[in-house]
Order: sequence, then structure tokens, then C-alpha cells
Amino acid sequence: MEQDDDEENLLRSVALQNAQSILLARQRAEEELIRTKEWLRVTLASIGDAVITTDTAGCITSLNPVAERLTGWAQRDARGEPLERIFQIVNEHTRHSVENPALRALREGEIVGLANHTILIARDETERAIDDSAAPIKDEQGTIIGVVLVFRDVSERRKNEAALKESDRHKDEFLAMLAHELRNPLAPIRNGVQIFRALAPPVPELQLAIEMIDRQLHQLTRLVDDLLDMSRITRGKIELRKERVELATIVKGAIEASRPLIDQRDHELTVTIPPQPIHLEADLTRLSQVLMNLINNAAKFSDRAGRIWVTAERENDSVLIRVKDTGIGIPAEMLPRIFDMFTQVDRSLERSEGGLGIGLTLVHRLVEMHGGTVEARSEGPGKGSEFVVHLPVAVVIQDPGPQGKAGHGEAVVTPAARRILVVDDNLDAAESLGMLLGMLGHEVHTAHDGLEAIEAVAQFRPDVVLLDIGLPKLNGYEAARRIREQEGGTSLVLVALTGWGQEEDRRRSKEAGFDHHMTKPVDFADLQKVLAEVNRAARKDEEEVAEAAGQG
Ligand code: ADP
Repeated sequence: MEQDDDEENLLRSVALQNAQSILLARQRAEEELIRTKEWLRVTLASIGDAVITTDTAGCITSLNPVAERLTGWAQRDARGEPLERIFQIVNEHTRHSVENPALRALREGEIVGLANHTILIARDETERAIDDSAAPIKDEQGTIIGVVLVFRDVSERRKNEAALKESDRHKDEFLAMLAHELRNPLAPIRNGVQIFRALAPPVPELQLAIEMIDRQLHQLTRLVDDLLDMSRITRGKIELRKERVELATIVKGAIEASRPLIDQRDHELTVTIPPQPIHLEADLTRLSQVLMNLINNAAKFSDRAGRIWVTAERENDSVLIRVKDTGIGIPAEMLPRIFDMFTQVDRSLERSEGGLGIGLTLVHRLVEMHGGTVEARSEGPGKGSEFVVHLPVAVVIQDPGPQGKAGHGEAVVTPAARRILVVDDNLDAAESLGMLLGMLGHEVHTAHDGLEAIEAVAQFRPDVVLLDIGLPKLNGYEAARRIREQEGGTSLVLVALTGWGQEEDRRRSKEAGFDHHMTKPVDFADLQKVLAEVNRAARKDEEEVAEAAGQG
């Protein structure tokens, strides 16, 4: 009996001990859980992002204070509510509901990344741009037990981005305007140089000064043109006027343009082109510009008396054009960036070569627009550079043989005296061009706005009107239209003289009734060609009239 009692006591005490240790363990676990929960609460409360958690049904289990602020819901009110009620999101542009990332994370069991252009609508209807992401919460066995949604207010960032974009656009517009405005004074200066050339007495100093002004003017024109092109590139406004051209013509044009710099620096130039013609479907002016930029660079970035090779060779369906020099070379780390806008190896003020760091960007873009590629090679500083352009060759359907196009190689007819009206609101531009044309024996009249132009046509009865487009009172398009409607308005030749030479501008001027479209600063030789054509047409008219009169 006593033994039974002892046993029972022992068992009881063991059970008690067990119960005590179980209680203790449970208490420890509970304390641990509270600590973890508290830690989680403090963590969630102190992070800058909004955090919402839900259970597997997508009902809210917690909101941290940032989430409370952004949604306008207190945690105690939100708990147990479906997530869509608390976290209402729409697309910034369409205003349509956006699929809730948390629900997708729950469904797919994967992290759902940041959605762009999402607007969160708070309980009080306040709207905020947010970025969000969601991840499923899994237990130790990997079973999904809920989802955590993290988001943040990006309104400020969006505002800054929009402001940045806007200022970038302003900058582009400003650059386009700047280039345009810089270009305007160049026309009268160029005319002035032509007048000096023709009339200056043969004093050596004077002749040298004229040559100097001419050279600098060319340089300035090139910079301004680059600037214009760059602003066109950034606004995606470069267009090609493709035609079937021979590679040799392109190379010749480029070399002609680069020759002054090559000679000035005493470089030796070797050109190798295959004898058989290679045809390209290309914009002659733009491709010449590409090669000219490369050759000019070769000349610019080589010490005096260097060597430059321009080589073209056919390789299957493409042509390879190499421009190689013995110049200063390009450091390896610069090679990958050399075609980026404004990239220059030497940006110090002491650098001897001018330039804006746009040329190669243009080269790259223009070659790309022709369906080709361009790469830069150099063994490093002092080891020279090589630029290789690949261009697709035009499919030869039928070789048109030696250039049969009208105007090619034809002697320019010296224009006979014509009555010419020059209209430009830049007085110097109008007067200097007038003076130059006057020196060639034409009878010239000038006008400075659109209404004056119409008036002058009626009074002066010109054969040719050189009409600026950007004119006060009445723009050139409108003036042209009205001139055409006037008596005798259909028989005269209308030439648009403008800073804008894009396809769209040409189309507009044609629609307005212009016969020709010339971009400023007008090349005087080009203008003479147009006048010569007027001449020819007029002469034919006159012959017809005489013939008719003779018959009558
Ligand atoms: P820019 O000539 O106006 O500086 P580019 O875009 O034509 O602008 O050229 C960018 C830079 O690339 C140049 O400033 C020069 O540092 C480097 N570069 C271009 N061509 C050569 C070359 N043939 N040899 C050495 N460096 C060159």
C-alpha cells in the first residue's frame, strides 16, 4: 500500500514537472512570438515604404503607418477588409483599374515587380502616383499564407521627371532656334564677301583678309550646320533624300570639301576606289557629309604632314569605306563612347581643335539611316585611327551607264538680265543679295515683309521673286499664294529662300506655289543655276512668242 502511494507521488511530481516545463516552454514561445511581432511592428513602422499584408483570401491583416497615411485607412478599420477596397489603383493614363499586384502574387506565388504609371486613390479620394511590388508570404513548408505589398509615393519624383523632360524639350527647341538664328546673319556676310571678291582692288593684304574671312565663315557655317543637324537628330527630324548615286561621286565630294584642311596641314592623302562603279541608294549630300566629317577628323587629329588613306572596296553586298590616319589615335577606353553626342577625348580649353563633339554622332546616325554601320579602331594614343563604314550596295537592276541626268556636267548658262524681287526681313540679307545680283546685271528690287512683297510684285513686275518664308505681316507661304492669284502671278518664277529645308518644308512651299526651294545661306552658284534655268525657260517662251508673232 505504502509502495503504491510512493509510486503515485512520484508520478504526480513527474507530471507536475512536465506540466511546468511545458508551461515554461509555452510561455517562452509566447514571449518570443510577442518579441518577434513587436520587432516586426517596429520594423514595419519605421520603414519609409508603405506595407500592407493580407491573408490567403486577400483580406487585410496589417497596414504599417505609411500605408495608413497613403490609403487613408486606419489599421483597425482596414483589418479583415478585402484588399481592393483599401488599395484602389488605376492607370495614370487610361484611368482604368489596374490588376492588383498582391492578388497576382497570391495567385501565381511569385514576386510581382514594380508597375509603372499607377495611381493610388485614397479613402478621401486623394490621388498619388505610386510604385508598387508584391511578394507571397510562405511558411516553412513553402505554403503560401498571405501576401506582402510594398509601395511608395512617387508623386514628387514623377513631377521632377516631367519637369526635366519639359526642360529638355525647351533646351532642344532653344538649340534649334539658336542654330536657326545664328544661321541668318551668315547669308549677308557671305554675300558681302562675294562683293568684296568681285570689287576689291588687288591689294595683297586686302585679298588675304578676304580669304581669311571666307575661311572663317566656312568654319562658322559648318559649326552652325552641325548644331542644326544635332537638334534635328535629338528631335528625330533628319530625313534622307535618297537617290541612286555612285560611290565615287560621294567620295569626290567629300574630298573636295576636306581638301582645304588637308592642304593647310600638309597631309598626304591617298585615295583608292575600285575602277568599276559601285551604286548606292543614298542621300548624296548626307553621305558626303559622313565622309567629310571622317576625313576632316583625320586631318584635324593628326600632327602636320601626316598621312591619310581613304579606301573603298566591295565586299559581297556591301561596300567598305575606310578612313585611316597616322594621327594622335584614340585611347581604348574612349573607343566605345566615341560616337556619343558631345564626346571628345580632350576637353581642355587648351586643345587646339575646335568642334562641338557632334560630328561623329551625326556620322553614326546618318550611316545607320542608310542601313549601314560604322566602327572606330585605334591601337591607342599616338598610333593613328581608322574609321570603317559598311554600307549596303544598291541592287543593280540596270546600270544607267554614265550619269545621264540633266544638269550634270552641263555648262552653267550665264543668266541674262532679269527683273528680280528679293524679299527678306533681314535688311542686310536682302540688300547684299540685291547688290550681288545687281552686279551681275540684273535689275533688282527689295521688299521686307509679305504685304510689301505683294505690292512690289504689282508695281515692279519681276520675272523672279526670291521670297523668304519667315516674314512679318504675312508669311512667305501666304504671300506666295496671293502673288500667284495676282495678275501675271502665274508666269513669274517663285523661289523660296528659307532656313528650313526638310521634306515637310519643301512640300509646304510647293503647295503654296513655289517653283524652287533653297535653304539659307544660299549658295550663290546654286542660285545662278536656278536663274539660268529661268533664263532657258524664258528664252523658250520668248522664242515661241516671236515665232507666233512671225507667223501672224
Ligand atoms: P569634334 O571633332 O567636334 O570634337 P567629333 O564627334 O567629330 O567632334 O569627334 C569626337 C572626338 O573623337 C574628337 O573630339 C576626338 O577626340 C575624337 N576623334 C575623332 N576622330 C578622330 C581621329 N581621326 N583621330 C583621333 N581622335 C579622333
